[in-house]
Amino acid sequence: MEFALPPPPPPSLAIAGTHTRFPVRRIFCVGRNYAAHAAEMGADRRAPPFFFTKPADAVVDSGAPVPYPPACRDLHHEGELVVALGRGGAGIAAQDAPAHIWGYAAGIDLTRRDLQAAAKKAGRPWDMAKGFDHSAPCGAICPVADCHDIARARLELTVNGTTRQAAPLADMIWPVPDIISHLSGLVTLAPGDLIFTGTPAGVGPLKPGDQVGVTITGLPPLSIKIT
Ligand code: MN
Repeated sequence: MEFALPPPPPPSLAIAGTHTRFPVRRIFCVGRNYAAHAAEMGADRRAPPFFFTKPADAVVDSGAPVPYPPACRDLHHEGELVVALGRGGAGIAAQDAPAHIWGYAAGIDLTRRDLQAAAKKAGRPWDMAKGFDHSAPCGAICPVADCHDIARARLELTVNGTTRQAAPLADMIWPVPDIISHLSGLVTLAPGDLIFTGTPAGVGPLKPGDQVGVTITGLPPLSIKIT
């Protein structure tokens, strides 16, 4: 038997204000990075950051439809700041981390909460709760020089126009440079890597037909429809 093995389409995201695309290499995500969200999930806010991943081809551009995923009865939104790396490295010190950042975007860490709860209960991996198809919608990436001061920005997530999540990014337990430093102590980071930096309190369920928006001060808004 012979298989035709075409080269996979390289995952990419829109870059704000251009027609060029940002090549996505890998997707890393931080768990529990806002104290109020850690509390709503029953977790200890003082724990060091931990990470999980999604496949690179889970990215979805703003405006594209997002199908309600299979094997799920409790799809949740997690609005997050996304950091796009332009330079890689290992053992990056927090004070050197900003020089590795290419840009920022507004994203959603879509989560099959029911599968995550079952995995947690059984002590099993989160992969199928977090890393499913279309699970990483992400707005156009804003090059860092064009961004508002991200440390002073606010994140807001709306569903059908109603605010569900709202918080200043300054509420992060681990700010972006610390996240990059911790993560680069675990893996060698590379240009094109994305980091979803965790979600504030207010996560909740989505249903087909919902229009979900994420705004972060100074960044292009993200808007998706669950189909
Ligand atoms: Mn998340």
